[in-house]
Amino acid sequence: MKKEQTPAMTTTKLSSPGTDQSPSVKSRKRSRASPFEIVGQIVQPGERTQIDLPASNLYTHTPLNLPVEVIHGRSPGPTMLICAAIHGDELNGVEIIRRMRSFGSLKHLHGTLVLVPVVNQFGFIHQSRYLPDRRDLNRCFPGSEQGSIASRVANIFFTQIVSRCTHIIDLHTAAVNRDNLPQVRAALDEPGVREMAEGFSIPVIINSGLIENSLRCEAGKLGIPIITYEAGEALRLNERSIVTGVRGIVSVMRILGMLPSKRIKTVRAEPYIANSSSWFRASMDGIFRPLVKLGSRIKVGDTLGVISAPFSSEETVLTAAFDGIIICVSNMPLVNEGEALFHIARFDKAGAVEEEIAAHESNIEEDRLYDIETVPVTVND
Ligand SMILES: [Zn+2]
Repeated sequence: MKKEQTPAMTTTKLSSPGTDQSPSVKSRKRSRASPFEIVGQIVQPGERTQIDLPASNLYTHTPLNLPVEVIHGRSPGPTMLICAAIHGDELNGVEIIRRMRSFGSLKHLHGTLVLVPVVNQFGFIHQSRYLPDRRDLNRCFPGSEQGSIASRVANIFFTQIVSRCTHIIDLHTAAVNRDNLPQVRAALDEPGVREMAEGFSIPVIINSGLIENSLRCEAGKLGIPIITYEAGEALRLNERSIVTGVRGIVSVMRILGMLPSKRIKTVRAEPYIANSSSWFRASMDGIFRPLVKLGSRIKVGDTLGVISAPFSSEETVLTAAFDGIIICVSNMPLVNEGEALFHIARFDKAGAVEEEIAAHESNIEEDRLYDIETVPVTVND
């Protein structure tokens, strides 16, 4: 980004978030938030502002802006960043943020919501995980002004957005041709992280280590509690993953005191923590058929799937080498030996986890979030 470029912005009053016609502000005897400054712009309490942050240019010299929406509540509270598509082909999070935007309850927001639906604009345009320099943005934080394109985008996002926030939820899916069970990944020993991870209220939490230069690692170094929500697959929208994600974010915001407790229902689940997980890899080349579903409990010796040679009777039955829950499965039938086919998480109470996953899935299936939140409704004040 050239230094002289200034972000374009559009501001509206938070009192009229699209669908709610009720009187705007009730005078309450409580403290009022201060103006919020981000990327050189001031957002007043009770305003929502869309900012186009100049981030880079295409080869054609066409500017590529980073769209940021700031919803600044009238009352003070945490500053929560929700971001998606750091991997440009991971779309569920983009849709999760789109649905979050229309929540009538946001007019009661305490604190500030910073929404960045597509961090990796290049990857999003090209339906790719990466940037034009073939770098993975989630290995480039905190970035550098002098680096290649991924490093520069990371630097702008990190210094101008991330560093302004007190809490972060980073939205991801599995890589292309893989499907993730909805799960939270978090370093639970970091301050403030466990509260967010358990507050997301889904059955599976992976207590996973931090990868150097990932957003989770580098934001953590700033002392910002951050969790990652992983669900579904790249280049696909999955309704269950989306609804679970929206409900989880609302649940975390409620626990942090950012949203009122009764205005939006949540779908609660008992969270179980896995402290380790392993990939099960292909033992031969061929055509792979999985025989277990996401969320299934498996025990040592259980059949996970089959790999067959396409032009002969040669076949290998894949059997589990340890107990656990399937949290990711490959959708690609063509496999080479050594390829990752299943991601299996280890739990102390795998049977209870499987039951909780099934119950949660059933509750989410019945959830009419989309209808409820995206058509005009009356929010009961
Ligand atoms: Zn990702």
